Amino acid sequence: MSEVGSEANPLRVAIVGAGPAGFYAAERLFKEKGLTVQVDMFERLPVPFGLVRFGVAPDHPKIKSVTKVFDRIAKKPGFRFFGNVDIGEDVSVEDLKQYYHQIVFTIGAPTDRNLPVPGVEFTGNYPATEFVAWYNGHPDYRDYEFDLSKERAAVVGIGNVAVDVARILVRDPDELAKTDIADYALEALRQSNIKEVYVLGRRGPAQAAFTPPEAKELLELNGVDTLVLPEEAELDPLSQESMVAAGRGVVRNVEIIQQMAQNEPTDQPHRLTIRFLVSPVEIFGNEAGEVVGMKLVKNELYKTESGTLRPRATDQFEEMPIDLVFRSVGYRGVPVPGVPFNDRWGVIMNQEGRIVDAETGEQVIGEYTAGWIKRGPSGVIGTNKPDAVETVVHMLEDLQTDKILHPAHSQAGAAEVFIAEKQPRFVTYEDWLRIDEIEIARGQEQGRPRVKFTDVEEMLAVVGK
Ligand code: NAP
Repeated sequence: MSEVGSEANPLRVAIVGAGPAGFYAAERLFKEKGLTVQVDMFERLPVPFGLVRFGVAPDHPKIKSVTKVFDRIAKKPGFRFFGNVDIGEDVSVEDLKQYYHQIVFTIGAPTDRNLPVPGVEFTGNYPATEFVAWYNGHPDYRDYEFDLSKERAAVVGIGNVAVDVARILVRDPDELAKTDIADYALEALRQSNIKEVYVLGRRGPAQAAFTPPEAKELLELNGVDTLVLPEEAELDPLSQESMVAAGRGVVRNVEIIQQMAQNEPTDQPHRLTIRFLVSPVEIFGNEAGEVVGMKLVKNELYKTESGTLRPRATDQFEEMPIDLVFRSVGYRGVPVPGVPFNDRWGVIMNQEGRIVDAETGEQVIGEYTAGWIKRGPSGVIGTNKPDAVETVVHMLEDLQTDKILHPAHSQAGAAEVFIAEKQPRFVTYEDWLRIDEIEIARGQEQGRPRVKFTDVEEMLAVVGK
């Protein structure tokens, strides 16, 4: 048998998850000189792009243009897409080992981190991850309901997802109508009564997790007073000290926050107030079990041994009437059956992308990971490129030393026959391009970039599956 990676015996790689990390991993594999590689990319949904389609806010279309890069990668000879195939459900990881030399898990972090606060059970209290997936037309979330009939919402957390959620809640629906937001979400937002949104940061302005362009955008929204309490825009002594070594992003964030603190409330239809150094300690509900308020504790910062500034509760409390709560304290990965998982961190157990056994720490031959499920839910889309490259470099090293799987069936045709047996309604990249074309055409009629299909059966029907 010729060497694995030659024209006669291509390296066969299964990539599980068609988001940015998956595509960047494929790109790096195809770039390797002198290597013939075949990549089969699996995706649970019939449509690719993961968080670019279902996470990036609809009013941020520029960020989504990265899909053009992914399209080019998908056109490489040797690339195949198997959409609507659930690894773990339709096909097991053990099955994949019969057909591929290497498997890469790039499944992202689909759920949310827990926020342990009493009262979390009251209705009107939602994870931000679900709201984001809902307004972006994710098939699993399209039937979720968010009661926007109330007036006051709080978003807990102060990262870019919190900013996205707050912005979507206060943005003029006529502006959202020009985006690819899900139709049902647009309709619900048109009916929304939300007038006041609070974004709650547990630390100070110098520790805000959002990035300056996203923060600045909040100052520029039509019909919105964006405010910060002047006393909360002031830096505490520890933060002031930290500014000496602060990066440009932090300096710019603080400038923007101080600009917000100079705004006076006017009679705009929406008000967005960013609060600092506060944490929810209890959510109040009424007899009907609906959220009606929140108790906050004022925090102070202290320095850990490693020099990080962390929040610590003081003995000052306040109560605020609130009708809705969105918990935006970070995404979290979920395990794949049979793949070692670190439950504390919500990531696959790995060393620089090589999956390792949870007990022995030894490498699990042939299995790799990249993206949020490898490192946790941090960074922007582009961060996944160097992350995926690190993983692929190790995959190529392992190929050199023959630390790969030796599958019983290493032909592309055999894999396809097997997958078709397990999931006859699999979707190819050509099928996706057809769905894409129809979505774009539907959008053109309304002056929008696309009108998404949000139902799996509908997606499958348009490609005759
Ligand atoms: P994130 O940036 O990690 O922010 C999480 C926020 O939750 C932080 O403010 C964190 O505060 C807070 N938090 C965590 N635990 C908390 C608790 N128990 N109580 C109160 N607050 C708590 O995560 P994210 O907003 O979900 O975003 C995920 C990644 O996607 C980020 O890298 C983000 O930049 C990226 N993203 C980018 C864009 C964009 O480029 N436009 C849009 C969306 C998302 P501490 O800092 O104090 O821990």
